[in-house]
Amino acid sequence: MGLSFTLLGSGSSGNTSLVSDGASNILVDAGLSGRETARRLRECGVEPGQLSAIVISHEHGDHCRGVGPLVKNLDIPVFMTEGAFAASNIKLDPRNNLCKISAGEPFEVNGITITGFSVPHDASDPLGFVIEKDGVKIGIALDLGFLSNLVLERLKGCDALVLESNHDVRMLKVGPYPWALKQRVMSRRGHLSNDSVASFLANDFDGKARHVVLAHLSKNNNLPELALLCAQRGLDSRQDSAGLHTRLELAGPDQISKTYRY
Ligand SMILES: [Zn+2]
Ligand SMILES: [Zn+2]
Repeated sequence: MGLSFTLLGSGSSGNTSLVSDGASNILVDAGLSGRETARRLRECGVEPGQLSAIVISHEHGDHCRGVGPLVKNLDIPVFMTEGAFAASNIKLDPRNNLCKISAGEPFEVNGITITGFSVPHDASDPLGFVIEKDGVKIGIALDLGFLSNLVLERLKGCDALVLESNHDVRMLKVGPYPWALKQRVMSRRGHLSNDSVASFLANDFDGKARHVVLAHLSKNNNLPELALLCAQRGLDSRQDSAGLHTRLELAGPDQISKTYRY
């Protein structure tokens, strides 16, 4: 087997994914509570102590609130940028390694190669990730205001994509958020809309991924059906849509996704 991944949860209440090659288990973001992460890991057959690494995209609580509790009594390396660590309030046990990473510099965890890439988001040095082993490539891009040329380049050739489809612009505009927050979410350092994802799938997606998992959906400003419909319209508008083997999937906050294997 090359790689598999499972979303343990995704949304503003917490984002956490498990990537595995069958021997090593890597947690990408730890935005659920430590206890809930442990519970969901065990449901996937993985004890927290069997984690080989935790990789953090940025310092917002919905991506890192579980790190401290999870590594409290375990010797697990935590990989994150210096900027993200400095901006976070993560307390690490001195026995645990903080491994500083930089955008564009690949690192390895037991033969699994991970490369962070910069994403436009209002955080300190935030990253998306490409994770590779044995020719299998998984791209994860959550929390980004728009798909920059760099991000589009990094997401090429992936067998699976986990992509934020945060909000429906119309729902956000008429929804309950204060105007300043609405502006932040819609800004180029905010979050990706359903329309942005549809446009990506229609115009920029290379058609390689077998699965595109729509993630980080807003509870207030989106509906799963709407995100899916919008993305499907994007895919269907392609000239090569009949020949595409890409399936759209949804990830939610409360349940563990299926496990995608490549
Ligand atoms: Zn964020
Ligand atoms: Zn987030």
